[in-house]
Amino acid sequence: MAKRKLNFDRIMEAAEEGEGAGFCLACGAEACGVEPDARGYECESCGAKKVYGAEELLLRIGG
Ligand SMILES: [Zn+2]
Repeated sequence: MAKRKLNFDRIMEAAEEGEGAGFCLACGAEACGVEPDARGYECESCGAKKVYGAEELLLRIGG
């Protein structure tokens, strides 16, 4: 099973769409309906508590 890599462009796209997208840092799965500043949410794909909101991730990467 191929996993999509999480990268800056992908996160930026999601943040710009502004529809509550977030990403799991453990497996790279996209989550929806999370707050932009979500931290440590549970991933629906792998169960890790590593889902962060897109904007939160951009801050971490850029910051
Ligand atoms: Zn995950």
